[in-house]
Amino acid sequence: AKECGRNNYQFFTTELNVRAQHRYSLETNLRRALAEQEFRVYYQPKLCLNHSSIVGAEALLRWQMPGLGLISPAEFIPIAEEIGLILPLGRWVLEQACQQTQRWREQHHADLVISVNISPKQFQDTGLCKFIQRTLQQTGLPAHALQLEITEGLLMTDLDTLLPMFESLRQLGVSISLDDFGTGFSSLSYLQRFPIDNLKIDRSFIHDIPHNPDSVALARAIIAMGQALQMSVTAEGVENREQVQFLAESGCQELQGYYFSPPVPASEFETLFQRNWHN
Ligand code: C2E
Ligand code: CA
Ligand code: CA
Ligand code: CA
Repeated sequence: AKECGRNNYQFFTTELNVRAQHRYSLETNLRRALAEQEFRVYYQPKLCLNHSSIVGAEALLRWQMPGLGLISPAEFIPIAEEIGLILPLGRWVLEQACQQTQRWREQHHADLVISVNISPKQFQDTGLCKFIQRTLQQTGLPAHALQLEITEGLLMTDLDTLLPMFESLRQLGVSISLDDFGTGFSSLSYLQRFPIDNLKIDRSFIHDIPHNPDSVALARAIIAMGQALQMSVTAEGVENREQVQFLAESGCQELQGYYFSPPVPASEFETLFQRNWHN
């Protein structure tokens, strides 16, 4: 038993070491990556069922580290938040996405709306609103064509800084979407307190549709709540026809997911404008 305990201990420390080294290597490389231009913005279309056409896109960050291929944002965003890199990185994504979208609006799709994920850390930056305003001015993108995706967790932080921030953003004219809706555990009263324009049903609910009655009931409830509160509702993670059919029947108009397209580089996104989305 003693042997075994010792082995476990060794295994444990080795694994911790490997993980710590991996993390250390990510962190040091991450600090260089922005200057070295290793980040890319991918775009995933949002489809409107009524018109069978693209209405928007979500900007999703990718890190192309030489020798290591694409690294998932799920892996590096938390580190970027910890080391403070999320502020310059988040601003870079906003700039890229606004610039690209305005170009697309001029060349392909006059009403295209871009959604950009905003970390809670960026919301603590009092300069965020000014930066967005300047970026809109410089790129020519109208404010109503920019949507910020935030998560429920943010709404549980300090109200004294949150409310003025929301007020400035609202005055600017950008819209706010509540991402991963239904996975947080804050109270629903914030839907009243904050100027939220869109609810994005988390893909964990969409995944089990139509087989899991609980997911079906929850998705229906979220769609009904959005309608009652005059918010638009978007479903993410739509992967198959049954889900599309269910969402259409339930009155959810805006869909996003692999069924239509994965996130793709800008050059590839352009080919999607030409695609026939019927069926
Ligand atoms: P998210 O905002 O919830 O983004 C949706 C994620 O679901 C994306 O993962 C997308 O690629 C993936 N996805 C889209 N359609 C499907 C589908 O049909 N099935 C499945 N299984 N997945 C689908 P991704 O690109 O790996 O991003 C992961 C998370 O990283 C994002 O989750 C977001 O929280 C964060 N993130 C990505 N880009 C940024 C960014 O620029 N800034 C910040 N702050 N966070 C970002
Ligand atoms: Ca998102
Ligand atoms: Ca989401
Ligand atoms: Ca998510």
